[in-house]
Amino acid sequence: MIIWGSTGKEKTIDRPDFYCPECRSEVSGKHIGVYRYFTLYFIPLFSLEKHGEYVKCDHCEGSFNVSILDLTADEIEAALEPWKCEGCGNTNPPGKDRCLGCGEHHE
Ligand SMILES: [Zn+2]
Ligand SMILES: [Zn+2]
Repeated sequence: MIIWGSTGKEKTIDRPDFYCPECRSEVSGKHIGVYRYFTLYFIPLFSLEKHGEYVKCDHCEGSFNVSILDLTADEIEAALEPWKCEGCGNTNPPGKDRCLGCGEHHE
């Protein structure tokens, strides 16, 4: 009996430098792709498809969405800082794009 199957495997695609939101500094990391491998007797033969990908920081081991590679340090810092609404003066948590006080959209 021949045993076919598939398994998930991770592969380092690239070793980019990026700004890590956890370390709050420029770090070296790994761009990792998760592939599905076709196996024969549990031995991975070839990759079937890319399942997903992520970026991992070498320092804190945190995993991040690959879109972080397109962001500058300033953009990432801005996303981490609380911001003050110009309309009502309310201080809003990072990541919110609408003011919790007045609902005003934040650029
Ligand atoms: Zn980090
Ligand atoms: Zn407001």
